[in-house]
Amino acid sequence: MAVKKAAESFSKELAEEVQRWGSMKQTGVSLRYMMEFGARPNRKNLLISAQFLHKELSIRIARRATELESLPFGLSEKSAVLKPPFFKVRDWYQDSFRDMRSFPEIKDTGDELAFTQMIKMIKVRHNNVVPAMALGVQQLKRDLKHKVVPAELQEIHQFLDRFYLSRIGIRMLIGQHVALHDPDPQPGCVGNINTRLSPMQVARAASEDARCICSREYGSAPEVNIYGDPNFTFPYVPSHLHLMVFELVKNSLRAVQERFMNSNKDAPPVRIIVADGIEDVTIKISDEGGGIPRSGLRKIFTYLYSTAKNPLEENYEGSSDGVIMAGYGYGLPISRLYARYFGGDLQIISMEGYGTDAYLHLSRLGDSQEPLP
Ligand code: ATP
Ligand code: MG
Repeated sequence: MAVKKAAESFSKELAEEVQRWGSMKQTGVSLRYMMEFGARPNRKNLLISAQFLHKELSIRIARRATELESLPFGLSEKSAVLKPPFFKVRDWYQDSFRDMRSFPEIKDTGDELAFTQMIKMIKVRHNNVVPAMALGVQQLKRDLKHKVVPAELQEIHQFLDRFYLSRIGIRMLIGQHVALHDPDPQPGCVGNINTRLSPMQVARAASEDARCICSREYGSAPEVNIYGDPNFTFPYVPSHLHLMVFELVKNSLRAVQERFMNSNKDAPPVRIIVADGIEDVTIKISDEGGGIPRSGLRKIFTYLYSTAKNPLEENYEGSSDGVIMAGYGYGLPISRLYARYFGGDLQIISMEGYGTDAYLHLSRLGDSQEPLP
């Protein structure tokens, strides 16, 4: 009984702390700032960075935990029952918040190193947030069936956009701090940022990865041709760019493959064009995969919209490599968030009966502040 009481008062205290931190103001940083700050990492600026993160991550994590607490959206009147995946995610956020707040003030390099280990662990703890949330939302949607109206779906969608965008930021900040400890960084790299990233090179690697998956799924894969200046470079996070191009090419390959698989015509190649402008680097991915009907176009950026078979199963924790051709309906909305995170955007233009063009705009100046939902 006493134990139960203690646990209750502890969780009440925690809930209040989460509330308090969740309402504090978040501080955004820009790509340029991260690059300049991390250019010559030494003990002093790593210490400053850790002190900043100690506070900033607490705020950002608390904010997400608070939002998770107030689910299920406006659906509660309809007795929507939240399912274990949501609780799991909420617990991850609460545990991480508790880890952050129980870590003592960071005063010297010893503290800083211990803190770095801790945030590294937090990042791992949150590895499976996206599939867990996807599963939770899907179950919610299934439970509600036709009771759910478009406005509520919209609400879920906006919640997920905020949630995932914030996750990208949290993971970027942690990843960057951890990477600044690398004793032997690649030339031109500042933490996870490559100051001389060749978009052509990334596009090539991402296309090859996507083609591999396509071949595995269909037995063959259309060609991908890439046009642009091979010597052109700009500062960006390679893993982000890779992910976006990979998702877009995967979509294009699937569309082309599905359209030409059973025809006697050769599959037309997917074309990638890299343009270096003054403000933006734009990457266009064009296919002749038949396009998207206008009625579907409105939905492609929503989570849970996919024309592929649904691969989600209950065991999102056990991880095989998990990479598949299509089916979560997450490729486009998540890629757009990555683009927007550093001030870019993603647009899809389609001609039904012919093909699709995806325009990936990446801000070249790196000055835009992180969006902070
Ligand atoms: P995944 O989460 O695995 O990417 P997905 O590919 O179905 O699943 P999205 O990438 O978000 O999800 O795309 C959503 C839908 O938009 C697709 O299911 C497909 O119907 C349509 N789509 C996207 N890109 C194209 C394209 N290039 N040509 C035709 N349809 C497309
Ligand atoms: Mg996709």
